[in-house]
Amino acid sequence: LAKKESFKPCAKCNQNFEFLNNLDKQTKKKLEQKNINISSKYYVCKNCLSSVIHEAYSTPLEKKIKIQMDLRKQKLWIYRMNYLKKAQEYGIRKNIQEAVKNYQTYLKILEDYYEIPMLDFEPSFFVSMKDKNELNVISTVYFELVKLLDNVKDRDDLFETYLEKFILFVPHSKKGRVLSENYKKYSYSKYCVHKSELIEGLKKLKKHYGNSLGGGCYIATVVFNDYNSYEVLLLRRFRDLYLKKYFLGRIFINLYYKISVYCLKFLKYKILNKIIKKLLLILINNIKKR
Ligand SMILES: [Zn+2]
Repeated sequence: LAKKESFKPCAKCNQNFEFLNNLDKQTKKKLEQKNINISSKYYVCKNCLSSVIHEAYSTPLEKKIKIQMDLRKQKLWIYRMNYLKKAQEYGIRKNIQEAVKNYQTYLKILEDYYEIPMLDFEPSFFVSMKDKNELNVISTVYFELVKLLDNVKDRDDLFETYLEKFILFVPHSKKGRVLSENYKKYSYSKYCVHKSELIEGLKKLKKHYGNSLGGGCYIATVVFNDYNSYEVLLLRRFRDLYLKKYFLGRIFINLYYKISVYCLKFLKYKILNKIIKKLLLILINNIKKR
């Protein structure tokens, strides 16, 4: 069942609906030519859509043009899946450049289909039932692009753009929780390059998904390169079985999480990394003795 707050009023009949429909620029223009007033976010329900289309394209010639436009859009919509398939294949073959290119073509098609520039994409624009399903695809594409560009040099601007979009879109996707879990795993894995940026993003996702996404030992994970390494597991167990029992322990944990995100930036300096690793190993040896 859909949540009540996801219902929005139709601009024409004013009744609340879970799904609404966008009007394309051409239709809006036609309506304006016919002196029918519409706002920039003129979303209508399924029932009103056909009457609005009928008002906009009233002559036979206009109707014919409308049909041709719809056909072109339908084609675009089908082609977009081909690009996604190609992108995935290139991704598997580690051809990063081609994979990125094909995912970007998918986004370009959306740009054309919805008539909005990619940089302006936001979840609130996707209002119809078809659009809501597309939110899953869009979120997945942004995640794939983030992972691909994470390993490409000198494309930090693009990487950051797609990361921002991913964080913006993923809470609106039905697969959001699964995607966020995968995102977390990737952020803590040894393949991850832009660690501090990705973990900063994870903090934002936690606002939506709560602490089930949390619990990571940031610094230890970076130093030992893997969220599931033996050392990190041992430290996590030490935290849960020992530190959490004591008041001072809990204060320490809270401070540790607050500070560690800011410290991550410095861990790219190898010497610092080595010193922290040594200190953690001393701690780990002490835990083992207990
Ligand atoms: Zn309506």
